[in-house]
Amino acid sequence: MHRFDAATEDLALAVLDRARQRLQLDPVPLDAPRAYDDLATAVGQTVTAAGLGGKQALDLFCDVLAEACLSTDHPRYLSFIPCAATEASTLFDLIVGASSVYGGSWMEGSGAVYAENQALRWIADLAGLPASAGGVFVPGGTTGNLSALMAARNEVRRREGTRRPLKVAAAATSHSSVSGACDVLDLDFVSVPLEPSDRGRLTGAALRRAFGDDRSDLAAVVATAGSTNLGVVDDLTSVADFCRAEGDQPRTWLHVDGAYGGAGLAAPSVRHLFDGIEHADSFIVDPHKWLFAPFDSCALLYREPALARAAHTQYASYLDVLTDRGEWDPADYAIGLTRRARGLPFWFSLAAHGTAAYTAAVERTLQVARAATAMVRDRPHLELVAEPELSVVAFYRRGWDTPDYSAWSQRLLDEQFAFVVPSSHEGRTCLRLAVVNPRTSEDDIAAILDTLD
Ligand SMILES: *Cc1c(COP(=O)(O)O)cnc(C)c1O
Repeated sequence: MHRFDAATEDLALAVLDRARQRLQLDPVPLDAPRAYDDLATAVGQTVTAAGLGGKQALDLFCDVLAEACLSTDHPRYLSFIPCAATEASTLFDLIVGASSVYGGSWMEGSGAVYAENQALRWIADLAGLPASAGGVFVPGGTTGNLSALMAARNEVRRREGTRRPLKVAAAATSHSSVSGACDVLDLDFVSVPLEPSDRGRLTGAALRRAFGDDRSDLAAVVATAGSTNLGVVDDLTSVADFCRAEGDQPRTWLHVDGAYGGAGLAAPSVRHLFDGIEHADSFIVDPHKWLFAPFDSCALLYREPALARAAHTQYASYLDVLTDRGEWDPADYAIGLTRRARGLPFWFSLAAHGTAAYTAAVERTLQVARAATAMVRDRPHLELVAEPELSVVAFYRRGWDTPDYSAWSQRLLDEQFAFVVPSSHEGRTCLRLAVVNPRTSEDDIAAILDTLD
């Protein structure tokens, strides 16, 4: 089992060949979920005392199991937030897996951490964070939000020298993981009411209406830079202004959740929407969403990394040799100790292609989203939910009820044509196209919209 013999050599070639073939497919098959009983019949019991042998297990995966998984990089997979990894990043993921790198500490993974930190620095520079900023790649936005809010809570507790009930304020359009993180941390999630003048986004004015001059109970404000459902960017400048230190009130921690939209920082055509992000105390963006890296990867950055260390460093006798060496230990900045160097596939592609290619790719998806917006506007039976700001286009099909949307969505998947699931806005069912894949073209969008006639 732990030997590279002739059989392993054969398996290596088969595995690498399979990876190469999958990458070469154009287009990739969309595929679809299968029912449990169906899979049980086709696959049966795979874990046995004697083992199936690598070749047979590989065939089972390639021939049956993989086809029961949707391809999130299909150009007409436009639901949720797709994942459109570059070939370079996916290839390098194979090397990360084969390299047995421990990414939690500088002592064990300095080379990997050095490279990951350069990728983090690119993002920090796009956001205008100071030279002192730094952080870590975590599995996803959920862990990123939780880790950042834990640091924020810790900072209030440190400052006050006591533990008391605290709140986190965000718009109702913030991601579900934000209120989830509050549950974990026993913080009260306050959904800040918006008025028409807020134009669907969290503003400093909305926060002032909700809290007046007293923000002493707030552990943090969470602003969303690209809401998941509609791609709305909160008004970061006025929110940051609300969070400023004032009189005897210390500043309030500002966390910016850009898990999806943060990639827009790289695109000059929308960069202005993010003005004010430079004031963030913490910030996340998922490279596995709109920055073309494979699952799973979230870049988590802190303005003052020492505050995150104070919350997250684990102390134990068996860790003493790592602690306080003055080196950059990624495990000090988030929940979790052992970590895969999951920022490396993103780093490799960024290093290989250069940042200009990233700007061009994000702009390309924005161009397709704008074309989609125009197509929706041109079709009298369709109606935009809101004017898109980033690369999510949501719209209603006039005359349709929820079952019509569901039936249409299922038909497109059954025909292996597209994966577009319904969403809703203020209780009304709508359709939603999330364009983060540069392989998605205007023609793909037009073909999907044609099926709504
Ligand atoms: C997707 C998303 C998250 C959660 O990220 P995961 O990587 O799925 O854990 C958080 N916030 C926003 C705005 C998102 O779009």
